[in-house]
Amino acid sequence: MANQNNNLLNQINPYHSAVETLKDVADLIGLSSDALEFLQYPQKVLKVAIPVKMDDGSIKVFEGFRSQHNNARGPYKGGIRFHPQVSEDEVKALSMWMTWKCAVVNIPLGGGKGGIIVDPSKLSESELERLSRGYIQAIHKNIGPDIDIPAPDVYTNAKIMSWMMDEYEKLNQNFYNRGVITGKPVSLGGSLGRDTATADGAYYVFEALAKKLQLKADATIAVQGFGNAGSIFANIAYQKGYKVVAVSDSRSMAFSARGLDIPELIEHKKIHGRVDTFKESEDQIENKEITSLKVDVLVLAALENSITHENVENVQADIIVELANGPISPDADEYLYKKGVKIIPDILANAGGVTVSYLEQVQNASNYYWKAEEVKSKLKEIMIEAFDNCWETAQEYEAGLRYGAYIVAINRVVNAMKDRGWI
Ligand code: NAD
Repeated sequence: MANQNNNLLNQINPYHSAVETLKDVADLIGLSSDALEFLQYPQKVLKVAIPVKMDDGSIKVFEGFRSQHNNARGPYKGGIRFHPQVSEDEVKALSMWMTWKCAVVNIPLGGGKGGIIVDPSKLSESELERLSRGYIQAIHKNIGPDIDIPAPDVYTNAKIMSWMMDEYEKLNQNFYNRGVITGKPVSLGGSLGRDTATADGAYYVFEALAKKLQLKADATIAVQGFGNAGSIFANIAYQKGYKVVAVSDSRSMAFSARGLDIPELIEHKKIHGRVDTFKESEDQIENKEITSLKVDVLVLAALENSITHENVENVQADIIVELANGPISPDADEYLYKKGVKIIPDILANAGGVTVSYLEQVQNASNYYWKAEEVKSKLKEIMIEAFDNCWETAQEYEAGLRYGAYIVAINRVVNAMKDRGWI
């Protein structure tokens, strides 16, 4: 599946998909051609070469990007991805999606995203640290708490954010500048609840949809991608009584029609690095089939383009939760919408991460830190309000939740642009 997915990543350009969806929604709401023209392009894209001294003494140069899509509503905000398939267009697409995501949940931030073309599993810890610091040396003049605030994404984590924040502070006369990066460890100003925020947020909106659709309490769930977002979502759903029958990672899939014990599977994955060898897994089904399993709910928590025209006809789930960014291509999305599949779109489903990143920044700015329950209750309130806005807008336009979310987001961004006199 990893190879198959990588091929799909190469075939379908996520930036083209992002622009296509923007144009479709622009048509639906009669967006002015000026606004559409403006919004198709990131305001700035940085491309940097990062020379890293490797442990053997040689120098290797890594390519990195930072795309800043729109800051009409606030500083650019978005994660940094370390992955061999990172490309300029992927980062541009992700930065546009961040603009919509921040607007959907109505937090005062714009959209940005960064990435480095690298397979971090092939680097030693010290090489990874030098790469992370090198990236900040290359882009530091273009980021800051009021300019652009990075955060973790695929294959980056709190430790990498700490190195980056430390490097940024060093480059700025050692002034404390904690709000420059979010997703930091709690010891350095990170927020309690940030580690589970994306999955928590997704669960709140999933619960809201389940209520609307009167989903049965023991509905079956399959989760593609068992990393930070996917494994935590699977665990919450399991604790709430749902039957998580399948999970997959880049190498393998665990399946049990009776339902998997997710806390045990998380431990298993930590020890063995894969999921198919889990004792409860009954069937060695090829993991490429996870998207075609007969389940009530399919959670996509891996990468872009998991479902495209090539496999969309095999999808049997009634509900899809897009924890990953851009996991369904626009043509596949149209097919699923016509089939009646209810999709919680990425810009709403996974907005919990950036929402708690925003709450982290608020705490950094006031230098006063909240208890985990307070963070969670603020997150819940924001996510439920966002869901209600998207649901009502979707009803009004007789459209799916994706268009509902896009309409809410685009209108907010366009209003800010108009108020600034940009259009
Ligand atoms: P992660 O690196 O922790 O996990 C990614 C998981 O996907 C890994 O288990 C990996 O093995 C798996 N995977 C990769 N290719 C796969 C394939 N072809 N089939 C099945 N599994 C595959 O990353 P994450 O932080 O969990 O992010 C996952 C997705 O969620 C990404 O699209 C990311 O942009 C999005 N997201 C994450 C957050 C967050 O806070 N973590 C926030 C918003 C969006």
